[in-house]
Amino acid sequence: VLSLGAASNWTRTTCAYCGTGCEMNVGTREGQIVVIRPVQDAPVSRGHLCSKGRYAFDFVHAQDRVTHPMIRVNGSWQPASWDEAISFAAGALGRIVARHGSASVGVLGSARATNEENYLAQKFARTVLETNNVDCCARVCHAPTAAAMKLMLGAGAATNSFDDIERARTILICGANPTENHPILGARIKQAALNGTRLIVIDPRKIELTRYAALHLQLRPGMNIPLLNAIACAILEEDIQDEEFLNERVSQFQEFRHFIQEWTPERAALLCGVEARKIREAAHIYAREKPAMCIHGLGVTEHIQGTEGVMCLVNLALLTGNIGKPGTGINPLRGQNNVQGAAHMGCDPGTLTGSIPIKEGSDLFATVWQRPIPTQQGLNLLEMMDAAEEGHFKALWAIGYDIFLTNADAHATRRALSRLELVIVQDMFMNETAKEFGSIFLPAASSFEKTGTFMNAERRIQRVRKAIEPVGGSRPDWEIICDLARAMGKGDLFSFRSPEEIWNEIRSVWKAGAGINYERMEYGGLQWPCPAEDHPGTQILHKTTFSTGTQAALRLVDYKVPEESADDEYPFILNTGRTLYQFNAGTMTARTPNSLLCGGDFLDISTQDAQRLELFESELVRVRSRYGEAVLPIRITDSVAPGELFASFHTPHVFLNFLTGPHRDKFVDTPEYKLTAVRIERYSGL
Ligand code: SF4
Repeated sequence: VLSLGAASNWTRTTCAYCGTGCEMNVGTREGQIVVIRPVQDAPVSRGHLCSKGRYAFDFVHAQDRVTHPMIRVNGSWQPASWDEAISFAAGALGRIVARHGSASVGVLGSARATNEENYLAQKFARTVLETNNVDCCARVCHAPTAAAMKLMLGAGAATNSFDDIERARTILICGANPTENHPILGARIKQAALNGTRLIVIDPRKIELTRYAALHLQLRPGMNIPLLNAIACAILEEDIQDEEFLNERVSQFQEFRHFIQEWTPERAALLCGVEARKIREAAHIYAREKPAMCIHGLGVTEHIQGTEGVMCLVNLALLTGNIGKPGTGINPLRGQNNVQGAAHMGCDPGTLTGSIPIKEGSDLFATVWQRPIPTQQGLNLLEMMDAAEEGHFKALWAIGYDIFLTNADAHATRRALSRLELVIVQDMFMNETAKEFGSIFLPAASSFEKTGTFMNAERRIQRVRKAIEPVGGSRPDWEIICDLARAMGKGDLFSFRSPEEIWNEIRSVWKAGAGINYERMEYGGLQWPCPAEDHPGTQILHKTTFSTGTQAALRLVDYKVPEESADDEYPFILNTGRTLYQFNAGTMTARTPNSLLCGGDFLDISTQDAQRLELFESELVRVRSRYGEAVLPIRITDSVAPGELFASFHTPHVFLNFLTGPHRDKFVDTPEYKLTAVRIERYSGL
């Protein structure tokens, strides 16, 4: 074991965990990472890193890292050379396309890959496979945000910047838990609260920020729409809307006023369980103590009305003029380092790089790529799974994405994946998708072993720099994609010699990123839009107009009763989410000392329910839903309300998604992860 501080080389790069985008100095010696320290002048993290960014790097040298390609032969994995694996993958993909057509294959990018790599993944799908069947992990988290904000404001990304945290007088935090999931931002929000900023927290749980909040609206799970509509109603009832802003920048106001008057705080209180007086107080603070900023997370988006939940937040910002100014806006906390970038680079079945709709951008892309591109809308990840189950979809290439573990309704995912003829998994570890369904495993380099860029949650594009050589025979995703394209006869479109060359092609098709070159990103990166090399980047969007026009239209959002509710058979509502020391599927953090701080998943249950069921701290319980079951230890805490449960989803052996169901957002198919009716029973081991 090398001692801390023994580094002989230092490399500045960007954290590969959450969407905050902290910068770090990686200390290495003899080709190994020995220490990580924060970058003092980083614009986002300002000399700080959280327990994940600073300490969770040992996965890079983990014993079970797969460092050579593998091909499954007669049910067992056999090592292969890169030439063999690429040729096998190319041959298999080619045969499936020839037999079943381009619509039968698809590609998934992910936040594990850089912007350059995600760009290549979608270019591969569109030019080599000739399909728009390309998607990424945004489908299961913030696709609703992108859809709602693009529709209403013209850009599916944060309107403001993290620096607005310190400029806001009020921060409305809805369905986000930043102190656990975006800790450096969580710390900035706490600091702002200590300096007098008013926090309104909308969350079914008593998250840490409720201790700093002026108001906690502890709503019942799935009740965002009634609550947010009622806040809008209270604003208009009290006549505290921003008339000047409404006149100049907002349309559909009269229709909205007529619609929203039905949503009185008293009516909403019956549904969401929050007292009407608290709803009115929240309306008052948000509309009057300006500037007010809204920060939201998966507690808004991972519901059947996720897209509409975000629309309701935008409605509030439009009514009160809290948009286009410092300290305001609608700001999604993107969960993963580069999930914003993955979708924005074009890993989306309906949009090209820069979130340009396919029809709008097809001529430009066809010119740059010198190939006509398919114009028919592709399948998203969930649609690919549906088509696979029906037998129409045959092959999938998943880059840095463990679909089986992370998709809701794991039984349905299993049925779908088991019908595929070919599953190419590109990852650092033999993930759950690879173990059960993989045909070929292509070992990918970690973010410490490659160069490129990530895009954080405030639209900032930052450099990723290689600190060590790829471990064993692993390779950066971009090199693997180019090799496979060459093997399939399209090498002329993928003749890149470096990520910078790929980035320069991205700049040629994406006007809002045209001014961002590698040199300008050297220290701290730049926020798009940045259309020219002398443009400083953009901290705040929609200052004078929206991308959709001068005015943004309010949306009339009706409430839909959740698909699940507690009953005699399933008396609890289960919510799922992440925790401070682990990250998502645990692929990286579970292989680091962070596991000593939080080793496994747990089920939070209220004291009242634990006493009633005579359950004890850490006791194992079996959780059953209509779809499946899981076994977890309980943690007794009053952060959850009686009748509600919260479980983390970091460990494969718990496999929480065998509990979650098939319900999806009607606009973008994002699954319902936050509301499943369950029952629990003491686990007997049988
Ligand atoms: Fe990494 Fe996010 Fe922690 Fe920053 S807050 S160090 S980006 S995990």
